[in-house]
Amino acid sequence: MVKKILQLQFRRYLVSLGLAGLVIFAAIHWVRVSASMPTPSVSATSSLSGLAALSPDQTIPNLSLIPPPSTPNPPALISTQANVTAPTPAVSQAPTPSPNLPTSCTATLPAPLWFNVAIHPSNYGDRFRQDAQGRPVTNQYLIVLHETVSSGLAAINTFRTYHPRDEDQRSYHDLILLDGTIVHLLDWQKRAFGAGNSEFRGEAVQTNPNLPSSVNNFALHFSLETPPNGYNNGPRHQGYTAAQYRSLAWLVAQTRLGDDRITTHKTIDRASGKQDPRSFDSRQFQAWLTEFRQSLC
Ligand SMILES: [Zn+2]
Repeated sequence: MVKKILQLQFRRYLVSLGLAGLVIFAAIHWVRVSASMPTPSVSATSSLSGLAALSPDQTIPNLSLIPPPSTPNPPALISTQANVTAPTPAVSQAPTPSPNLPTSCTATLPAPLWFNVAIHPSNYGDRFRQDAQGRPVTNQYLIVLHETVSSGLAAINTFRTYHPRDEDQRSYHDLILLDGTIVHLLDWQKRAFGAGNSEFRGEAVQTNPNLPSSVNNFALHFSLETPPNGYNNGPRHQGYTAAQYRSLAWLVAQTRLGDDRITTHKTIDRASGKQDPRSFDSRQFQAWLTEFRQSLC
């Protein structure tokens, strides 16, 4: 009898031991499966989720250009306009045309998706109507093309950071991510710090007596996000995406500026050996630019 009871208890012990083992095995297996599950791929747009309340904007920002000053005694600064509108809830359709376009315009090519992102005021300024010596400046606007040589998010974070020292202050007006999304950083009426110590065919303006002259006072700085294999000082990388060329061409077309007012940072740089934008496909860009210019009306 005692022997039978002992045998029964031993069996129960074995069963409970087996059950416990099963539970532990299942738990270990679940942890392993969870750990090996692939993480969702991160798109260029969702990588911006580090920026609060960022969502596509419904209307095109203020992309109009006021004419360069020509009066003999203008005020020291070009009057500035209100900042671009705050981000609005996401929309799936293309943004509506800019208010400065004729309402009869029926553009067949949709505008790219874009975001407004405010950058820190230490990284930009106002456009001056007089240089540091008090002479009036009347330069036409000039488009300067760049690349980030980093991720787009890293560049945006730099522009959103307070920089008290002149040498650290930098900005673009617009940044085009790998997926073609335009990040609108600065009103075109403002002066971005994109190319210190620079000159375009003899044109440069000195606005600070302590710093070399540059094209910044009349420049529009547009930058392409560099692909990951270009995060270095190498001479080239895999190049930009078709979506980036398309968005850049759309942006350039909105300026109504001619080819003679488009240049690169490499071309205008005077001192530090800038090479950007590397691996730029001018033919692809020009093809899109022709399309977008024809769709303007
Ligand atoms: Zn540059």
